[in-house]
Amino acid sequence: MHIVGILNTYTEISPEQLLPYLDAGGEDARARLRAFIRQQRATWPALEQAHCRLGERLRRTLRLPDSTVELQCNPGRARSTTAKVAADDVAQRPCFLCPGNLYPGQLGLPFAQDWLILNNPFPIFTDHLVISSMRHTDQLLASALPAMAGFVAGLEGGFSAFYNGARCGASAPDHLHFQACPAGMLPLERQLRPLLDEPPHGKTTWLFCTRDNRGIGLCRAQSREALLEQLGDMCARLSRTAAPGGEADLNLIIFGRPGHLAGVVLPRRAHRPACFFASGDGQCVISPGAVDVAGLAILPRQEDFERMTEEKMLAIYREVCLGADVMEACAP
Ligand SMILES: [Zn+2]
Repeated sequence: MHIVGILNTYTEISPEQLLPYLDAGGEDARARLRAFIRQQRATWPALEQAHCRLGERLRRTLRLPDSTVELQCNPGRARSTTAKVAADDVAQRPCFLCPGNLYPGQLGLPFAQDWLILNNPFPIFTDHLVISSMRHTDQLLASALPAMAGFVAGLEGGFSAFYNGARCGASAPDHLHFQACPAGMLPLERQLRPLLDEPPHGKTTWLFCTRDNRGIGLCRAQSREALLEQLGDMCARLSRTAAPGGEADLNLIIFGRPGHLAGVVLPRRAHRPACFFASGDGQCVISPGAVDVAGLAILPRQEDFERMTEEKMLAIYREVCLGADVMEACAP
């Protein structure tokens, strides 16, 4: 769908602004995206500063029974982690993803007609992107899936895309969007990526497992269309128990390499664990989204970072994730 007239044209990067940052001879999607990121870091001081601070973040690794989880202490994420996502609260704030409300210096790179690629001003990774609909419309996976698969396939797997359901980590549940990071940044993606190299059994292959209390449904596909059909089917089946017009609570990741795509479905039981709402020493400010359930736990407060243990992390996953049995029960 073409949306003309809503977009504030000052938010869209022009070919002239992009030109000085393009590699010689490079005009493909990857080169344009690289140039866009360079332009934004060169001309938007707050973004460059946020990336510099990213290198200073405290990090450590937890060894859980089935996998490793990385902890990142990131005070820059406090606002997102504690974002009020109730409908009333959301309705009272200006939407920071609407094209007319972008930050000073922030520009968007148009993508697939009605999307804008934006640099995330509060990055978790180097080159952390938000791909936002040009329309202010509800966060729904069915609306985001085709763009997510197109984004990953168009960049030949150089970036991975992830989606937070409206009640599963999205800090703007009222504005359709997904996020992206360079391939290999998400621990779960690194753990699952070798499966892309296994010989396929037909056009699509599902694999279900529960690792460290997180149910994981992995779908491998040789074409974008086949992946979309399978993921769309699975999410529709999971959503049968959701309110009419709503969707199942879940996070979803798409990654790939040339000629291969994979989708990872992570169904959710709860948005935030009880420790988020606790007070005193029992409190731990963690609000898991796709990144956290994919093995990179973001903790804005240093005391939570220092006090996190293997047992607490497993308990948080048990509280907010469902097992793989819910997906196996509704597999085609
Ligand atoms: Zn909006």
